[in-house]
Amino acid sequence: MARYTGAVCRLCRRENQKLFLKGDRCFTGKCSILRRAYAPGQHGQGRSKLSDYGVQLRAKQLAKRYYGLLEGQFKSSYDKAKKREGKVGEQLLVVLESRLDNIVYRLGFADSRAQARQLVKHNFFLVNDVRVNIPSFLVKPDSVISVSEKKQQSGIMKKILESNSGRVVPKWLECSKSKFVGKMLFYPERPDIDLDVEETLIVELYSKV
Ligand code: SF4
Repeated sequence: MARYTGAVCRLCRRENQKLFLKGDRCFTGKCSILRRAYAPGQHGQGRSKLSDYGVQLRAKQLAKRYYGLLEGQFKSSYDKAKKREGKVGEQLLVVLESRLDNIVYRLGFADSRAQARQLVKHNFFLVNDVRVNIPSFLVKPDSVISVSEKKQQSGIMKKILESNSGRVVPKWLECSKSKFVGKMLFYPERPDIDLDVEETLIVELYSKV
């Protein structure tokens, strides 16, 4: 599967917001956005005012990068959101939050969404006792996500659990790290999602296409 392979801190600086793409480093003083709080590139410190389209595009890019998706994957989530009941923008965020890679990250079983995606693909997780290795798999309420027995004692899982011992799990999920198990309690609502973006701008952008 295609993925972004460039420097991820540039993405945060471009969006002028922490996107938490680098695990532990994002919570330290080494975070690039703290040291260079301006857009990357030659003209990063002198950008002019954005057009309406520019504002909408930035909102979409921000959400896309926050969840670590490429354009096709993000658009596919938008198409799924359009088929759901409720406001499309909010449903888009619900779809993105319900992805298995995001939930693995939110539960603290990965340092970043990129790492979560890799672990999912390497058969680390079961959903309702069935092995699932598709990062875009949409988890439903009452589903139980567990680390496969074989992977529980792996060096990488031990390291992740140690580094994420203080991670706060959102209220729509619950997790028992000692048992290597998490559960989705209900779909998150907009106030439960900590992404600082105006999702209506994304809907406006895609409505034009
Ligand atoms: Fe973004 Fe993390 Fe890099 Fe900071 S350290 S700029 S939050 S990816």
